[in-house]
Amino acid sequence: MSCVKLSRVLAGDTPGRSTELYYYRVGPTDAGVKVYLQAALHADEQPGILVLHHLLSLLRAADEAGELDASFVLFPMVNPLGMGDIEFGRHQGRYDRGTGINHNRRWPSLYDALGASLADRLGADAADNVALVRAALRDWADALPQNTAFEQWRHCIIGEACDADYVFDLHCDNDALVHIFSVPQLADNMQRLADWTGAAATMLAEDSGGGSFDEVWPAVWLRLARECPQKPIPLPVVSCTLEYRGEFDTFDELNRRDAENLYGYFQAEGLIGGKARGRRGQAPAPTDLRATEMLRAPRAGLLAYCVELGDEVNKGDRIADLVVLDGDAAFVERLPVLAGTSGRVISRAITKYVWRNANVAKIVGTEVLESRVGNLLSD
Ligand SMILES: [Zn+2]
Repeated sequence: MSCVKLSRVLAGDTPGRSTELYYYRVGPTDAGVKVYLQAALHADEQPGILVLHHLLSLLRAADEAGELDASFVLFPMVNPLGMGDIEFGRHQGRYDRGTGINHNRRWPSLYDALGASLADRLGADAADNVALVRAALRDWADALPQNTAFEQWRHCIIGEACDADYVFDLHCDNDALVHIFSVPQLADNMQRLADWTGAAATMLAEDSGGGSFDEVWPAVWLRLARECPQKPIPLPVVSCTLEYRGEFDTFDELNRRDAENLYGYFQAEGLIGGKARGRRGQAPAPTDLRATEMLRAPRAGLLAYCVELGDEVNKGDRIADLVVLDGDAAFVERLPVLAGTSGRVISRAITKYVWRNANVAKIVGTEVLESRVGNLLSD
């Protein structure tokens, strides 16, 4: 049994900017399975903090009862740098101010960092190959630069995530239902996770184009397997981005149930024993991320939605009217914003003033859209 609170000082680049990153390790460290969970990488997305607050409580009780069969590492608030990003009385937190980097983009390509050096050392035994790659990942993570606060921060996170068997990154959308992003090779596991979390959609892409945190961990194994087809290289990591609804959906009762259901999923994975918790439902099957339309505003205006979250729509249906705010037709004309595909509306804009190309809705369809190439994410 073991539960420790850890912290890492992130030395500020300027006076007055040092901060601390807190995290927990719960469960037997010799369990042979490591589960890594983090929330609020986009610091303005906070439902996951409350989900992990409740999950931590459940895990601590399970640890005291000797019911954990995995080591859990939790970063309930993984981005203290972003939590300090207050601008004119409003919290921001999506981008690093110094570099302009979206906090969930441009995580390093592990294959580019390590692949060539590993290919020649792989052998005929899958378990040996996993151990070899993981050891190389740990060495690489340890040696990452730690000059700026941003680098110290990523060094700490990467160092904890790089050898985990499960990497779950908890985010939220603007105004949305629960949904999941992952890679196609994990479709079966993601179906189970969707069933437990009540996800309205599970969208799969091996490379969404943004270098998001959850994608870099499976990517190195998938690329190695492709580059070295004669060597047995499994995919030993279950990784995803779990979107816990919208920015304003931080509620004790709701997120406590989310934690119970996540706990139930880990029980079903064989990582926690004891009394069964949570409730498994039946979620829709995963779909190709390229079949999800990111509906955009054609110009600035005020959105008057015609659909609710969860509505099924057909291509050409009216998703919203855009009340025109300028020009000859100001406050008179309403421009219809139409669905470009058939599917389920899983997200909308929480504030209704939008500008050209701003996000209006995500519509999860089943037909891959020709327009969906390159960066598949909304920003
Ligand atoms: Zn996010």
